Amino acid sequence: MKVSAQILNLIPYKPGKPISETQREFGLTEIVKLASNENPLGPSPKAVEAVQKYLSQQHRYPDPVGYELVKKISEKWDVPASQIALGNGSNEIIDLLIRIFCEPSTDSILTSEAAFVAYQVCAQAARVKVRTVPLREDLTIDLKAIADHFFRNPTANIHLIFIPNPNNPTGTVVGGAELEEFLVRLGNRDDVLLVFDEAYTEYVRDPKFKAASSFYKKYSNVLVLKTFSKVYGMAGLRLGALVAPEYVLEYYNRVRNPFNVNDLAQVAGIAVLDDEDYVKASQKAVWDGLEYFYKELSRLNLKYYPSEANFVLFDTQRDVEQVNLNLLKKGVILRPVQNYGFKTLMRMTVGNMDENKKAIAAIEKMLTEVSEIG
Ligand SMILES: *Cc1c(COP(=O)(O)O)cnc(C)c1O
Repeated sequence: MKVSAQILNLIPYKPGKPISETQREFGLTEIVKLASNENPLGPSPKAVEAVQKYLSQQHRYPDPVGYELVKKISEKWDVPASQIALGNGSNEIIDLLIRIFCEPSTDSILTSEAAFVAYQVCAQAARVKVRTVPLREDLTIDLKAIADHFFRNPTANIHLIFIPNPNNPTGTVVGGAELEEFLVRLGNRDDVLLVFDEAYTEYVRDPKFKAASSFYKKYSNVLVLKTFSKVYGMAGLRLGALVAPEYVLEYYNRVRNPFNVNDLAQVAGIAVLDDEDYVKASQKAVWDGLEYFYKELSRLNLKYYPSEANFVLFDTQRDVEQVNLNLLKKGVILRPVQNYGFKTLMRMTVGNMDENKKAIAAIEKMLTEVSEIG
């Protein structure tokens, strides 16, 4: 059977190692998983209650447009309901945007090196080329280089630019004058869409950061991706939202599966949007955890990159494959990021304090067992 060359070369998205698999492989019972940027508090009690309440209705198809959820999002985020669509996680939305706006073989998407890997995987699956510009030394995304690249390569047919803000796995943000200039240069064009992927904005504290909601209305080609997987604690239920002008959503709704968002995700989404205490507690857990990680990583003399998200990227100064194996044997699952081109860096999600302490203890022990590279 003939398969497209781009599919043959596709390196699939590698999710965090599942707890059950690690238990089997290493004969462990207790596992600390800080690999997938999940919410350390567990789901919102209000979301759990909603799911339980609606379980007995699951013989019915879900609402194909998510009317009640879209209405709730519209109120909470102050955007017209006509400019909101839902997805099976933001991953599905990324996938569909590429399929809608890029022609296979001839068109490209543009993003940064070491940007969230889903853009690349989805583009390749759609036979769409991926163009990237280098990160800066401090691992921030170089918006000027992205805009320059766009204008220097008119024949690349770049129709989508993905800006994860904050970025995963680096935890860095863009903002300030640099972002303003980027928008002046690329905003309101009718040949390219600027997709701001805001999976972690609720955790941001850097005053330089600007949420896309503050400039979305000014530009006809700005799109915003939101997920319910992080601060809203619903990674397993799969829910994402796309905020975009009506002309974009018209195509999006043509292409998506009619029942892409299940009913339990919809009712849980409505419930968690009203659970402000949960969101606040999630933020606090992450901020406290980051402070703890910074303190401990400094004590262990490990360089880290200050993060605006719910994880921290740090330099193990060792071959990260070996580090990973060593930590897995201790029952600690973190995320090595060699696939982003970082051979010694590890990403660690903030867990609850007990998990954070166990992870640091395992890292401290690992340092004496895995040798440093020069
Ligand atoms: C986690 C994450 C998402 C969320 O993906 P879902 O499919 O909604 O779970 C989106 N973008 C970035 C940058 C992320 O890190």
